[in-house]
Amino acid sequence: MLTVTNIETFYGPSQALFGVNLAVEAGELVALMGRNGMGKTTTIRSIFGLTPARSGSIEFEAKDLRRLPAYRIAQAGLGLVPEGRRCFPNLSVRENLVVTSGPGYWSLARVEELFPRLAERRYQMASTLSGGEQQMLAIGRALMTNPRLLVLDEATEGLAPVIRREIWSAIRLLKEQGQSTLIVDKSLSELLPIADRCTILEKGRTVWNGQPDALDDAIRDRYLGV
Ligand code: ATP
Repeated sequence: MLTVTNIETFYGPSQALFGVNLAVEAGELVALMGRNGMGKTTTIRSIFGLTPARSGSIEFEAKDLRRLPAYRIAQAGLGLVPEGRRCFPNLSVRENLVVTSGPGYWSLARVEELFPRLAERRYQMASTLSGGEQQMLAIGRALMTNPRLLVLDEATEGLAPVIRREIWSAIRLLKEQGQSTLIVDKSLSELLPIADRCTILEKGRTVWNGQPDALDDAIRDRYLGV
């Protein structure tokens, strides 16, 4: 459903991506991996048109995303949970969810069922939520748009263990429901068991692509530093 071919992306004069290739098929969960600064977030920003790619192609369901402005890309069926969660701090939890709601499977009730903590805090201002709860809200907001492809950038980074477990359970549930997902996350022990495929970036290039069980120690040492 998503095919990224050989994209190159710049921040002003400085080149960050030198040829990234990656694909997500319907129903798959694909892990985008690599050490810090290797280009994972920039790849996601390129897909969403936030830092547009200068060359290469990005196709989503036969649409050329490089030709669409950023606001049209979300409408095309992609949902982003950006690094560092973005919610409206002065709106309640429910208001934050309603703002992004569209026609489809996801409703307030279904998001609150996925994340019971959000149900308990539905009238609370988003600014008063813990970091992990805000992350749940950010995921809930993305789901309310009924994205055919959900993209999660470091959704569990820096969170308390109990909240991380809840978010991973939700991600596993979404996968069982057939949600197509592209995910950047450092917790390989959670990510690899549910990933259908992994794409590894090194210095702005795709250097490895394969199934998680083919990720041997040599590749891990070389590209992931673990
Ligand atoms: P991390 O896990 O640390 O977020 P990453 O793999 O997501 O790493 P990117 O954030 O995509 O990596 O960064 C890729 C390269 O682009 C790095 O060399 C980084 O310094 C550079 N870069 C990222 N954001 C900017 C920016 N706003 N302006 C200039 N260079 C940037």
